[in-house]
Amino acid sequence: MDETQQEFLEIVTQVRTHLEYQKALGINVVQSLVEPPSPAAVISQPKVQPAGADEPKPRESKTTIPPVVSSPKPTLTAVREELGDCTRCKLCKGRKTIVFGEGNPGAALVFIGEGPGQEEDEQGRPFVGAAGQLLTDIIVKGMQLRREDVYICNIVKCRPPGNRNPELDEIEACEPFLVKQLQAIKPRCIIALGNVAAKTLLKTKTGITSLRGAWQTYQGIPLMPTFHPAYLLRTPGDKKLVWEDIKKVIAELKKSGKG
Ligand code: URA
Repeated sequence: MDETQQEFLEIVTQVRTHLEYQKALGINVVQSLVEPPSPAAVISQPKVQPAGADEPKPRESKTTIPPVVSSPKPTLTAVREELGDCTRCKLCKGRKTIVFGEGNPGAALVFIGEGPGQEEDEQGRPFVGAAGQLLTDIIVKGMQLRREDVYICNIVKCRPPGNRNPELDEIEACEPFLVKQLQAIKPRCIIALGNVAAKTLLKTKTGITSLRGAWQTYQGIPLMPTFHPAYLLRTPGDKKLVWEDIKKVIAELKKSGKG
């Protein structure tokens, strides 16, 4: 097989993977084929802030989130060092491992979940259980990215006992480190996964069902709230809605990549 044939075969394989993923989501439109989401090429381009009238706007601005001024810009390694063997909240008592976050330190896209589950607590890595597999599918099969191209982390870095929601004091103890991680990464977009992430980052009581699909901003960064993958495992019919949200993120990444 010559080089051109091999390249053609790769394209066919990619298109088939993408179509299979869309079919699994219940999407049968050709539109995505005509304009396949391919932020992989864009994601490594120089970062340019989204600008102009069509820039994502905060939909709700009851509370102003003050910009965190930090100079010089922290590195992820420095943030991890500062976190240390953290005992700043009660979650340290039940955890096996701190789940700091993982991925590309210069990622254009950051996913933020709620907190580690059992599997994550054991492995020390975010989103490696069943919900994690679905998130990985969204990234790889849906967005045509590699998991290591993006950055994945959580609102809290230690597992809440019995997978309960993190409590306010736990979130408050952990949040400064998330803020610094985002300052280090400087992503072009954030995806907030589920209620806890969206409500915490946006300082709102509005639930994810109302928030999802509409652009917000966090520390000046466009933020898209969407359903948590664990919810999608229980409610697969809503995968279509998440795909709608993800397509907006893909478009934003393309736009900001081009300036
Ligand atoms: N759910 C989350 O919110 N985060 C993880 O890391 C795993 C499951």
